[in-house]
Amino acid sequence: MEETNLMKIVEKNLCSCTQELSITPEMEALLKNPMRELHVALPIRIDDGSMKVFRGFRVQYNDARGPTKGGIRFHPDQTIDTVRALASLMTWKCALHNLPLGGAKGGVICNPKALSPGELERLSRAYIRSIYPIIGPDQDIPAPDVYTNPQVMAWMMDEYSKCVMKTTFGAITGKPLAVGGSEGRLDATARGGWFAIEEAARGLGMSLKGATVAVQGFGNAGSYAASLAGSLFGCRVIAVSDSNGGIFRREGLDTEEVMRHKGKTGTVVGFPGSDSITNEDLLELAVDILIPAALENVITGRNAAHVKAKILAELANGPTTLEADEILSSQGVHVIPDILCNGGGVIVSYLEMVQNFSMDQWSEANVHSRLAERMQPACRAVDGLSRSYGTSPRRAAYTIAVKRVVEAMRTRGWL
Ligand code: NAD
Repeated sequence: MEETNLMKIVEKNLCSCTQELSITPEMEALLKNPMRELHVALPIRIDDGSMKVFRGFRVQYNDARGPTKGGIRFHPDQTIDTVRALASLMTWKCALHNLPLGGAKGGVICNPKALSPGELERLSRAYIRSIYPIIGPDQDIPAPDVYTNPQVMAWMMDEYSKCVMKTTFGAITGKPLAVGGSEGRLDATARGGWFAIEEAARGLGMSLKGATVAVQGFGNAGSYAASLAGSLFGCRVIAVSDSNGGIFRREGLDTEEVMRHKGKTGTVVGFPGSDSITNEDLLELAVDILIPAALENVITGRNAAHVKAKILAELANGPTTLEADEILSSQGVHVIPDILCNGGGVIVSYLEMVQNFSMDQWSEANVHSRLAERMQPACRAVDGLSRSYGTSPRRAAYTIAVKRVVEAMRTRGWL
């Protein structure tokens, strides 16, 4: 049966490069295990007066290169294995982009769509009260992920500040501008992804002007990816989707209007002038660029052979299974791996921390150019290694990242 446990998939990807790096089984054991995990139970008063207990996690995977960093996901299907895998991915992502950070991730098993704003705020604050002794600006810095947003980050920063009795903007990133957020954070993941797509297209000799694009997931990463496709490169976005379904328009969608429609109705579905499409069919459309920007395991052994895109840009974490990866590679699809493609989010989160530490606020143009300064070397290093060793961009990306983490562990005397 196909492996869909993200932790196992990440481990396998990790191991694919360890031989090349002469990594011993002992070192590998260290690389495959999270340093620290905290499991918490969160009793929350529901609006009807009853009490409900939610379960949450924070996994700090590896801090050899610096304080750990990673988002917090609120999702009904959250599992500790997924949080571990996402924390592992953060470790390799931060190393690949040469950030002085390790990797972490957090999660709460809940359906935020079924919570009132008050319940969501109480849950966000309770989660931080439970984990605050192990987080902080020089220890572990959370950020948004699926179904958490800048408002949730503001409550979390506020709760952390109350716990330590001092306003500590640098403890959480992805905050609104009014409370120490950074210009350019909202579209950072998407903008970084487009840097990676631009580099890949250049390598393939492909023009982006007029290229067709489909985006699965229309949240923070996906909606900005769709809107930047047109505004930065003149691409034509022909399909987008969210958890309710997808929309398709061969002539191209007005993505700003789709954003407004989603803002009003809560979904992209029903956008005037578009046809309906399922999330599954969207992945198999004849497009130049396919951007999965929702959840893991969407491109599998079942549908990979039907993917027609030339570039698959993994804005989501872990969208491609191992089996799918092999199939895509044999079909000549250029896969930009998640740890490279979606690094823009953590890069600008890091820039937000730096601004918070120095009590500063940079212009959007400054943030954009610093984002490019971090994305481009990572893209070029992955491309260079993958060409010289004739290996996939994913394997090249892991090799660069793991080498850096191992070097830090050796230098610190852990190995
Ligand atoms: P989000 O909550 O803002 O948006 C998620 C989107 O996915 C929503 O539009 C939702 O409707 C859609 N979705 C959920 N289930 C779906 C399904 N089964 N089929 C299709 N669409 C579905 O989350 P986000 O922050 O945009 O994160 C999306 C992905 O990007 C995740 O894998 C996340 O880990 C990754 N990512 C996010 C950031 C960031 O800065 N936000 C950074 C790096 C990676």
